[in-house]
Amino acid sequence: MNQIMILKDVRKSYSVGNSLFRRNRKLVRAVDGIDLEIFEGQTLGIVGESGCGKSTLGRMMVRLEDLSSGQISFAGHDLLKIKGKKLRELRRDFQMVFQDPYASLNPRRNVGSIVEEPLRIHGYSREDRERTARDLLRKVGLDENAYQKFPHEFSGGQRQRVVIARALALRPKLIVADEPVSALDVSIQAQVLNLLKDLQAEFKLTYVFIAHDLGVVRHVSDEIAVIYLGKIVEMAKTDDLYSKPKHPYTQALLSANPKMEESDNKERIILKGDIPNPINRPTGCVFNPRCPKAQDICRSSEPALLQINNRKVACHFPG
Ligand code: ADP
Ligand code: MG
Repeated sequence: MNQIMILKDVRKSYSVGNSLFRRNRKLVRAVDGIDLEIFEGQTLGIVGESGCGKSTLGRMMVRLEDLSSGQISFAGHDLLKIKGKKLRELRRDFQMVFQDPYASLNPRRNVGSIVEEPLRIHGYSREDRERTARDLLRKVGLDENAYQKFPHEFSGGQRQRVVIARALALRPKLIVADEPVSALDVSIQAQVLNLLKDLQAEFKLTYVFIAHDLGVVRHVSDEIAVIYLGKIVEMAKTDDLYSKPKHPYTQALLSANPKMEESDNKERIILKGDIPNPINRPTGCVFNPRCPKAQDICRSSEPALLQINNRKVACHFPG
């Protein structure tokens, strides 16, 4: 398998608080040292509660956000050093699909024009644009007359299909889908997930699929990284992760999901406390204040992400 993207120690901090007084400013470490390899044609799932840094990470992968430090390479290029025309060319290769299909579509433009927009920017002829847009609308399962219609004439699921059609217009290699079905009814989610899977095979796409819930990513991901406060706490092939989660956080996410009964993890673990605020990072293991297994060492020393059998896990007491 070829790597299409490699992330090395990627970090992003935001300065928040009263900017007038330097001492009142605080640094939020949204993404705190992430290493990843993304393989061509595969789907990497990224899962964690809200505020854990998933969207920030996804935006950095498609260069919608600068890094505070670290490296990202894409198809052998150092993504952060490429500029100008070369960057514009490379940008065609990656696209992002966002959670909210209502916010992503201009209400004053018809769907044909929306799907054609990236092609217009890249100078395609009128005929090429229309042919491509009509073809893509059909491929995402919308009927012929979708081309003339406006976003408000569609349901949430159909709008997300329009967003997906637009993302495919320039034939990207990598799509970062940030909670693409979280805003949709549960009954519609599976249809959109199946569509994404079919399109992956047809267009030979690589996906990074972000979700806050382990249920959604299971059926689309080859491998999953569970993140907590900007760090990977466990990473494994999908089946290994679901059948034998080793990090207490993964176990808790799984047992919070009632559809996950087939997991070996029969004991229900309830996450204590609130979703953490990255401004007040705990010392030691970032998960320790909410961890049922926490001991003294977890409060004083941060566990490294280590390879254990078929996975990577960052825990002093994995299992
Ligand atoms: P997720 O997608 O997992 O919910 P985000 O990447 O959106 O997480 O956010 C991670 C953390 O970074 C959160 O604490 C969030 O408040 C903070 N954050 C994200 N974007 C900004 C920003 N532009 N300015 C300040 N803080 C931000
Ligand atoms: Mg997010």
